Amino acid sequence: MTMLLHACCGPCSMYPQKLLHEEGTGYDMIWYNPNIHPEFEWNRRLENLRKAAIHFDTVLIEEGICMEDYWKSKSYIEEFGSRCAMCYDIRMGFVAEYAASHGYDSFTTTLLVSPYQQHDLISEVCRRKADEFGVEFRYYDFRPGFREGQNMARDIGLYRQKYCGCIFSLDESDFRDKILKSFEG
Ligand code: SF4
Repeated sequence: MTMLLHACCGPCSMYPQKLLHEEGTGYDMIWYNPNIHPEFEWNRRLENLRKAAIHFDTVLIEEGICMEDYWKSKSYIEEFGSRCAMCYDIRMGFVAEYAASHGYDSFTTTLLVSPYQQHDLISEVCRRKADEFGVEFRYYDFRPGFREGQNMARDIGLYRQKYCGCIFSLDESDFRDKILKSFEG
């Protein structure tokens, strides 16, 4: 039996992959992050996740596209209470359904490594989606390994982004101007 590991980007996948290898858990990795904008950044993160997959000799499943209408299609504040709640709901819902319909016994996500993400909300959404689609959610608190994972990413030359992913988080980033410049170059 194999677990499905949702990955938000290469750097955040490094520590979870290392841990899963150490504990002998079989897993495939899945990319599904239509929240990431603009398309240049979506491609850049996927490209770096491919490098992280090659580093660990991991199967990487690539799903979804950069959805220009990701936010326009929903009145997300009313329905979910916050944009991040909607974002987790969409991504974890897809991953849980994919795991259930493709023979995986469980799933988890590299979002659980980041001290900048809403850890408890992610776990809650994953548990709900696990119940909905009849597949196990394996909870990990990967956060103690965040720094180690970032260092590993640096050591193999992975690009490390400065904003979460959506257009709102880009606007809010202290590095906004620098990031926009990097899209040009
Ligand atoms: S800040 Fe991150 S988690 Fe929240 S909506 Fe934007 S991309 Fe999604």
